[in-house]
Amino acid sequence: MKIIFIGAPGSGKGTQSREFIDKYGYVQLSTGDLLRGAIIQGSDLGILAKNFMDQGKLVPDEIMIGLVKNYLTSQSEKSVILDGFPRTIAQAESLDLMLKSNADQIDKVIYFKINPQILVERLTGRRTCTNCSEIYHIKTKPGKASGVCDKCGGQVVQRPDDKEDVIVERLAQFEKNTGPTIEYYRTKKTLFEIDGMQRPSIVFEEIKKSLGLLI
Ligand code: AMP
Repeated sequence: MKIIFIGAPGSGKGTQSREFIDKYGYVQLSTGDLLRGAIIQGSDLGILAKNFMDQGKLVPDEIMIGLVKNYLTSQSEKSVILDGFPRTIAQAESLDLMLKSNADQIDKVIYFKINPQILVERLTGRRTCTNCSEIYHIKTKPGKASGVCDKCGGQVVQRPDDKEDVIVERLAQFEKNTGPTIEYYRTKKTLFEIDGMQRPSIVFEEIKKSLGLLI
């Protein structure tokens, strides 16, 4: 099973991905996490991606498509959640071709709908574990000890691109590029829209239902 989680930054894709990994053994490809890992390693990819990410811009399609192709080839047998990919129509079309050549397809696209005003508050207050990517929020979900991940003991920080000026650009990129990508999936009838402003436990139940998961 191949599922896409699509939605603006801060709409809850990462939080829900972690639930599906923990409870159903999905593997997740978060292209954002992959790029942040490359930046920490100081690889060529990381050096290139950092420039775009620091400005809230999208990393060029050719690079992202190559990365995802490698990943899917290595995980072809597994149930995969794609979190943060595709973000453009070119990425969506390439993904379809990649999967088709392997007699595979996207089963469902979950669109996390959310009011843009809420996103700025969610993102500026968001803190992320640098080790396991667990997500916290300074108001709604603070960790037990400041700066330390409850789950793994890793360091919890504010992502550089969760600062307000970068967020504005990331949201603009979402409107411009990912909006049309959502329409692409709507016409293919694989899109399931979910109200991302509900409590995470309710969002989880609704996604489960849409995927036909009964327990
Ligand atoms: P995310 O953690 O998904 O919000 O991604 C953080 C940043 O990584 C984005 O603002 C982009 O700069 C870059 N990025 C992640 N996924 C993609 C993608 N599919 N296409 C282009 N850039 C991406």
